[in-house]
Amino acid sequence: APSAELARAESLILEIPDYPSEGILFRDITPLLADGPALRATVDALIAPFAGRFDVVAGLEARGFLLASAAAYTSGTGLMPIRKSGRLPRPAGTVGYALEYGTAEIEAHADFAPGSRVLLIDDVLATGGTLVAAHALMRELGYAVAGTAVLFEIDGLGGRAAIDDPALHTVFHS
Ligand code: AMP
Repeated sequence: APSAELARAESLILEIPDYPSEGILFRDITPLLADGPALRATVDALIAPFAGRFDVVAGLEARGFLLASAAAYTSGTGLMPIRKSGRLPRPAGTVGYALEYGTAEIEAHADFAPGSRVLLIDDVLATGGTLVAAHALMRELGYAVAGTAVLFEIDGLGGRAAIDDPALHTVFHS
């Protein structure tokens, strides 16, 4: 049953204290990725609410790429890598956002038809800063956000409120 498989998948997400810095409880999804049935059940659950309603899957560098690629393959859609700044040969859209310390930028190419419906995917939702920037990037590029799908939502950091997307879907949460 999918729910039993998902419960097992959730047990494969490790909690690593004080990584990458003190006070951060890092969610390590690599054991889940390592398990074929768990990976398949998780990717299926990630995109299920959006079936037939998106034209493109966009993944956030770097762990979002892993899930978005599988989601695009199984959906038969194209894939948009949203990269950290300075890594694309012909950036078309750039959006800056605040980090706990300093700032960052994300970029993407505009290789899709105007108005394309994009499903945004990342591994972990914390403060929401990264996905809020991804929403702004889609606006800048002229695409429509079909939904936001995240493998693991950390409760209590305000990410869900920050994103303010009624179509925010998370598979697991703390
Ligand atoms: P935020 O922008 O604060 O929502 O942070 C989300 C981004 O940072 C995602 O791309 C995650 O991969 C990463 N991230 C933030 N906090 C964690 C955490 N506790 N464990 C794993 N990844 C995290």
